[in-house]
Amino acid sequence: MKKEKLSLFLFIDAFGWEVRKRHPFFLNDRTCDQKKLETILGYSSACDPSIISGRLPQEHLMWSSFYYDPDGSPFKWTKALAILPDAIFRRGRVRHVLSKLIKKALGFTGYFQLYGVPFKTLPLFNYAEQKRIWEPNGLLRGETIFDELHRQGVPHYVHDSAVSDETKLARLTADIESQRIDLAYCSLGKLDALMHAVGTQDAKVTELVHWYDQQLEKLIQTAEEHYEEVVWYVFTDHGMHDITEGYNLIADIEQTGLIWNEDYVAFYDSTMARFWFLNETGKEKITAALTGHPKGKILSEDELKAEGVFFADGMYGELIFLIHSGIQIVPSFMGVKQIKGMHGYHPADADSAAAISSNRPLPAGLTKIHEIYHLMRKELGWSPCDPAIPEL
Ligand SMILES: [Zn+2]
Repeated sequence: MKKEKLSLFLFIDAFGWEVRKRHPFFLNDRTCDQKKLETILGYSSACDPSIISGRLPQEHLMWSSFYYDPDGSPFKWTKALAILPDAIFRRGRVRHVLSKLIKKALGFTGYFQLYGVPFKTLPLFNYAEQKRIWEPNGLLRGETIFDELHRQGVPHYVHDSAVSDETKLARLTADIESQRIDLAYCSLGKLDALMHAVGTQDAKVTELVHWYDQQLEKLIQTAEEHYEEVVWYVFTDHGMHDITEGYNLIADIEQTGLIWNEDYVAFYDSTMARFWFLNETGKEKITAALTGHPKGKILSEDELKAEGVFFADGMYGELIFLIHSGIQIVPSFMGVKQIKGMHGYHPADADSAAAISSNRPLPAGLTKIHEIYHLMRKELGWSPCDPAIPEL
């Protein structure tokens, strides 16, 4: 006998509006409605918590991964490792193994990678995503859909970030066949990884979109065999930009003659540089070096507020510099090599846009990715969480 209803929230990382438009065949026969969604300034570390909470980073406090916190840093003990030559830690495989070891030693359950963060700087920083965000109490502040799913006892599927897309889909299919779940939230990562490596225009991208099309077609068919009503949403958190040049922003900052950890501390993401000032000279010289910069711009308080990423206490930086679309900060604390694709640029850039498709008409009020949270509530028949937030 068929079960009553299944809601599928299928997240294809980086399947943004521009890439989606170039692949109109994707679930074409099944799609009732699709639209562009505005992304959130930042990376998945900002977008994912927003989608599952309905709130913006300045509310749930999760924006970038690393933030300046020399007193509270969980990495203080790594000081001892800083005597080893940097060259060892620059090797990808060494950093990958170390990331795993540190994650285990600190009891982190969330997504954790050391990337290219220089070892000697690590004790100055704390890490936002220490807990697995897909479980109750996963955010630094406030609740997510998973807190409420657990409280209400709604049987659901949520992906395990540590396994492949194939395994995620196989496990989800098994849950559908056994009619164990009412809702699924499955985040698939292959397309994001591929486009970081080859850019958005490579034939392999189309090949992979075909693969997703077939996999999801099969998944939805299976769902329809086991449930009376199947509602699906395929969505993403951000798009992907092709990288046209690398830029050494660290060199610009070093040219000021300022001293690291005496005058300033910085965290260099791939598209953003975030600064904390330890004295007035640090603030003046770095502000002067970045004002009117040809490759990017300092984000004003008003812009940060408009994007929902303003932190009055400077948690993620007292000054935020955002590089222009298509440029990658190289080297950065995320890596030393220039790659082909990147996201984390201004949300207003065309390639930044996210997207959503469904077999149901999409609400007109749905315009930003964090509002997907309200779609989940709606499909579960729950009332709006906050009377101030209109129902979609
Ligand atoms: Zn990515």
